[in-house]
Amino acid sequence: MIIRKLYRFEASHIVRNCSSDRCKYSVHGHSFRCELFLSADRLDRGQMVYDFGLLKTHIKDFLDGFDHATLFWEKDSPAYIKSMKEQSKRWVCLPVSPTAEQLTRLIFVACQAMLDATDRANGDEAARVHSVILHETETGYAQCSREDAYNEDMGRITLSRVVFSEPVKAEWTDPKMWDKLLAGKRFSNPVPEIQVPGDFPPKRRPSSMR
Ligand SMILES: [Zn+2]
Repeated sequence: MIIRKLYRFEASHIVRNCSSDRCKYSVHGHSFRCELFLSADRLDRGQMVYDFGLLKTHIKDFLDGFDHATLFWEKDSPAYIKSMKEQSKRWVCLPVSPTAEQLTRLIFVACQAMLDATDRANGDEAARVHSVILHETETGYAQCSREDAYNEDMGRITLSRVVFSEPVKAEWTDPKMWDKLLAGKRFSNPVPEIQVPGDFPPKRRPSSMR
């Protein structure tokens, strides 16, 4: 079973080493739309893959970190990086080029890391990231599977090399969220109040009784 949550952010970048002069020589922006898909082979006590409400905390803040920010590659020229940091309070430095393809991989790895760091409280331990689609324009998007996300032939996504500027972090619910994730701290989901008691998922009966 797969569920999808849509996030939006407006961000700017330059894409180096590509064929388009507009992309590689000019800072420009996109209205990105990010589709995060989670999957599970069982349902939680609320009979869901994962409560959408739980995707409005760390993951929402993480993706909001890209909004109205300039995204740049750590290997870009020092002069360019310096000027971006001088001209934009909101920036994110990435270990890979800020293409739609690499952003999907980064979002996949980061969201999975946040889920892994979260103590689940509603029988939803099976939920994990299935894929990420990032629409860069009305007509073009990149789609990242689990296999793509951890394929080092596409470059390694090292989360400790993803740096958010201080003004970005200051707007998060917890400004230390990213530092805590990198330090291996645990996050916790709220324990839901149970209105209808009973075990879920139901215990399997022997096949002869079905
Ligand atoms: Zn672009």
